[in-house]
Amino acid sequence: MSTTHYPVSGSCQCGQVTFSLLAAPNMVIACHCKACQKLATSAFSITSILDKDKVVIEGELADWSRMADSGNENHAKFCPSCGNRIYHYDPKIPNILKFKGGASLDDTSMLIPTVHVWVSEKQDWFIIPEGVKTFDKQP
Ligand SMILES: [Zn+2]
Ligand SMILES: [Zn+2]
Repeated sequence: MSTTHYPVSGSCQCGQVTFSLLAAPNMVIACHCKACQKLATSAFSITSILDKDKVVIEGELADWSRMADSGNENHAKFCPSCGNRIYHYDPKIPNILKFKGGASLDDTSMLIPTVHVWVSEKQDWFIIPEGVKTFDKQP
């Protein structure tokens, strides 16, 4: 893996929300569930699990929440102007962010998923790279 030099900055599509990653994510997860396909308007979503103090986020954020299948509340923060999703969090675990803005960072060299979840709902054409962990559903 190439060396990433932190901080790495990025922004939402319209630039209203900016963020700066101060350190490597704890984990990078690709989720192939249908909800994430809708969210990403693509084959899967990429989530960087981060300690809250490892990312600085500036700009106005709107909030949306839903109950996950697990019964946990899943809260989402997004740019109210362009709609880009910035991060998700569980209010019971406020110190951990599920950062969604990874692909918007100026340097994405740290954004390599090592875990793929919900591969039971994956698009047939996407081939999972060798050597990564996979789970049919949520582990
Ligand atoms: Zn925006
Ligand atoms: Zn998902």
